[in-house]
Amino acid sequence: MLKRSIFSFLTLFICSLTYAQVAPQSNTTTNNNVRERSPRGNPEDTEVWEPIPNVVVPGEINFNDPPSDAIILFDKDNLDKWVSLRDESPAKWVVTGDYFTVNKATGDIKTKEEFTNYQLHIEFKIPEEIAHNGQSRGNSGVFLAATNGNAGGYELQVLDGYNNDNKTYVNGMVGSIYKESIPLVNPAKKPGEWNVYDVIWTAPSFNADGTVKTKARATVFLNGVLIQNNVEVQGETAYIGKHEYVAHGPAPIKLQSHGDPSIPVSYRNIWLRKL
Ligand code: MG
Repeated sequence: MLKRSIFSFLTLFICSLTYAQVAPQSNTTTNNNVRERSPRGNPEDTEVWEPIPNVVVPGEINFNDPPSDAIILFDKDNLDKWVSLRDESPAKWVVTGDYFTVNKATGDIKTKEEFTNYQLHIEFKIPEEIAHNGQSRGNSGVFLAATNGNAGGYELQVLDGYNNDNKTYVNGMVGSIYKESIPLVNPAKKPGEWNVYDVIWTAPSFNADGTVKTKARATVFLNGVLIQNNVEVQGETAYIGKHEYVAHGPAPIKLQSHGDPSIPVSYRNIWLRKL
């Protein structure tokens, strides 16, 4: 009995030594390339690839005129309500009548006005001739509050997602709260057709010492179909690592100029009702 106990102990001891030597090596190997891990981790650590939301074909879309109490953020001809994120100079995205297109050379744009809780309507179009794949296929984004925190706010992803043909991690697909919340279903229109986001945003609130009092909440419809149902947002959108809050007050809405090589996305008919 004693011999067997000693043998079991030795076996466990040797196994744990072997594991201790193997485990750190496995952490440094990604995609067959050995590399040092950043202390913050790697982008892949926070990718979720399943479940893939079901495709839903939306009904006839009603591109509504704004209601009478809406703040018009864009209807046609100019971006007077927007500035460049970089230096707050006039927004230099390309306006073509009743829509405008991301200008990747000039970076993100944000609203001049700041908001807390609101209902937002915004339409977007992935170009018909879109190329590339994954996160490089029509990537932009609506930051529901643009902040000065490390991640710059909370991103509702814009990306080609038609028919689930563009393979990517589902917490980064169109309709996701980026790297947080997978959309319930996928009613995205095909490239070349206009999509509509309708968003209800409840801003986070903070205690005097900067800690979170209440987390943000988002409800999102894409093309009239509910895709985010009052989800609790865990923090600012981080490409790498954990999402965290940094205390802020009223904030602009920001549109993302993503650095991928695909043809830029267009937006139109943007209005907001304060809640
Ligand atoms: Mg994006």
